[in-house]
Amino acid sequence: MSEQNVFLVAENHKGSSAEFKEQVITLFNQMKLIDGYYTAFAEPLGWYASIKKRGISVLIKMKLISEDNESLEDPRGWYAPGENGSLIFSNPEELGGASFEYVIIHGTENYRLVPDASTAGYGAICSHCQSGIDSELYELLNRTYNEEYESNSEIDMSTLSVVCEKCNRSTPLRELATELETTLSNKFINMCNIYDYLDDAAVKDFSDRLGCRFRVLYERM
Ligand SMILES: [Zn+2]
Repeated sequence: MSEQNVFLVAENHKGSSAEFKEQVITLFNQMKLIDGYYTAFAEPLGWYASIKKRGISVLIKMKLISEDNESLEDPRGWYAPGENGSLIFSNPEELGGASFEYVIIHGTENYRLVPDASTAGYGAICSHCQSGIDSELYELLNRTYNEEYESNSEIDMSTLSVVCEKCNRSTPLRELATELETTLSNKFINMCNIYDYLDDAAVKDFSDRLGCRFRVLYERM
């Protein structure tokens, strides 16, 4: 399969976002799904590159890896796969142990748009005049990611709004209708560059052990 990311968005989780993150890290360490921090450093400014395609601006995540990042105390919550990483798939032996490149475990007060990028487009619709507002959405996301990079602090995306160029009215991200299935969440697991689709049984196992349901969203790269 082509490069793909998956998001496991927690629903009905009872604890705080910080507790969610801690519980996932503990569980994934116990299961040996992760093994330490993912230290290769992706430069956010190059990571999201805006390109023009078929008249709409499309975000693409690019991996720009720098080897000189020596910090092991990585506050981003990016983790490298462990020896059992491939157990998230139904046929791990066929993949020869391959699993994912890294996993981001998100648990902060800040809500994020999930998926955080899409090469296929979001199909975002203005809530006032029903015009397509993907280019406005991509501009907003680019601006937001750049601002986060410059200020080195995470933005709560539930406070953001997209302004429609046709009618000049704004639609809050939390009310935005999109053709692609999206959500805003502050508790999710994002496995990047997975080698296969997730095994339903593995997702159910995570749900049982963490005491919440997971909504599974794939992001095609
Ligand atoms: Zn409009």
